[in-house]
Order: sequence, then structure tokens, then C-alpha cells
Amino acid sequence: MHCWDIHTHREGQPDSIFQAGNSKMVEGIPVSLGIHPWELDFNWETHFEKIKREADQNPCVLAIGEAGFDRLKGPEISLQKAAFHAQACWAARLEIPLILHCVKSHDLFLEYLKSAKNPPCIIWHGWNQKPELAAQLLPFPVFFSFGRQLLHPGSNAAKWLAACPIDRVFFETDDSELKIESIYQAASLILQLPEARLAEQVIANWNTISKRKIS
Ligand SMILES: [Zn+2]
Repeated sequence: MHCWDIHTHREGQPDSIFQAGNSKMVEGIPVSLGIHPWELDFNWETHFEKIKREADQNPCVLAIGEAGFDRLKGPEISLQKAAFHAQACWAARLEIPLILHCVKSHDLFLEYLKSAKNPPCIIWHGWNQKPELAAQLLPFPVFFSFGRQLLHPGSNAAKWLAACPIDRVFFETDDSELKIESIYQAASLILQLPEARLAEQVIANWNTISKRKIS
């Protein structure tokens, strides 16, 4: 059973996508590359040129990200928007997903989705927002990655997982110390589905939305 962890900050875990971000490139392991809104500066376009080249040529780059919007931390919104648009465009061009970081900015994200002509598949990571907001996102190619919040019964994450279409679901450990198996266990209890079934579903979901496959 391969319980894929689609977003982790811990390097060297099996079946996981390591969040390499904007920093170093790790050889031979699946990674996501991108510029987090917190790391944006006036010089972001130069960094992004390198990321574009690497993502284009290296098949281990499975996703672009984390990229997105943050009203609590990071530079002015116009800069965040420009960087997000550029990164979304590149993910769409490579036909790989973008991993979204979105804090107090769902209006900006919706604005993007409504105006985008060719958005990539976007995975909102660490989903713990109200189910009403999730429902607004369903008309768009938006997917949901659930992490540690699933361990709290009654959390928004647990509520939405129970209602979310199963083909939109992913799991992650993010920056926690948890094992990915404990997230699958929690999800299995919520959905009343065996963990092995969830593991297969996540792989199928990924392979449906990405040109770069996992197994
Ligand atoms: Zn993260």
C-alpha cells in the first residue's frame, strides 16, 4: 500500500512530494517547486526563471508550489497576484498541478478562477475552511488536500472530507511531525472506507490531473 503524502516539508520520506520551494533542488526525489508568497521579493522573476527551467526539464518536479495569496504575511497583493498568475500559467503549460497556499484570501483566489482562461489543476493544501466555501470552488478544477486537522473530529476539514467528491481528495503531513498513515487512518474513519482504498484513490486522482504520474 502506497499512502502518498502530496505535501511535506520533511525530506526523504517514501511516496511523498517534498516541498523544495524556492530553495535547493534535490536530485531524484519527487518535489514541488515554486515561490511561496512569504518569499516573494522584487526580484522574484529572476528566481522564477530558474524554477521554470528546472520544472520543464526535470521529471521529478511533480508540482508547482506552494504558491498563492496571504493577507497576513508577505508583500503587497499586486505582487502576490503577479507571481501567482505566472506560476499558475507555468503549471498549466506543463500539465502538472499547482499547490496552493491561501490565507484570508479566498476572494482573490475566486477572482482568479473566474477570470482564468486555462487554469491548471489546483490543490488547496491544508484545507480547513468552511464547507460552504469549498462548495463554491467545485465548479473549478480545485482539489483539496487534508492534513493534521482531520485528527480533530468536528473540524472544518473533517466536515468537508465527509462531503467532498472523492475524486477531489488528497492527503498531506505538511510541516507536522505526523506520519502520513495517521492521516489516512483518520480519513478512513470519517469516510468509512479502508485505508488501502483511499491510497489507491489518491494515486488515481493524481494521475488524472497530472502528466507526471505516481504509483
Ligand atoms: Zn507547507
